[in-house]
Amino acid sequence: MDEGFISLKHRVDCYHCNQAADQVITAVPYRADVVCDNCGATRVFIPRNEDVAGEGAYNKPECYDTWKLEQEAVCRNCSTKGLHDLTIGCRRFIVRCRACGFTHLYRFDLEYIDKKPRE
Ligand SMILES: [Zn+2]
Ligand SMILES: [Zn+2]
Repeated sequence: MDEGFISLKHRVDCYHCNQAADQVITAVPYRADVVCDNCGATRVFIPRNEDVAGEGAYNKPECYDTWKLEQEAVCRNCSTKGLHDLTIGCRRFIVRCRACGFTHLYRFDLEYIDKKPRE
């Protein structure tokens, strides 16, 4: 199993510190999270469902900007290394294999500020 799965950065205005900052996005089969590189605001998502699903099957209106991203990863279902569509909102985090439609749905679990030491 590829433990790394999804790892990328997305530069946006952070909802917490209001600075343009890299949001570090990682997803593994048992957890997904988004961490602001500037202030350490962390959102944790936990798996809710895994299934082959149609595009947009889990998309619902969100309470603020939903990020639509793409990332190359190895699919756990079809084993293809190819683009996965990421849809990240405040309540859900969705990763979908473009080759076979296998979709990981994570739901928002908790939020905290990781006060890491800074130089
Ligand atoms: Zn921030
Ligand atoms: Zn696949």
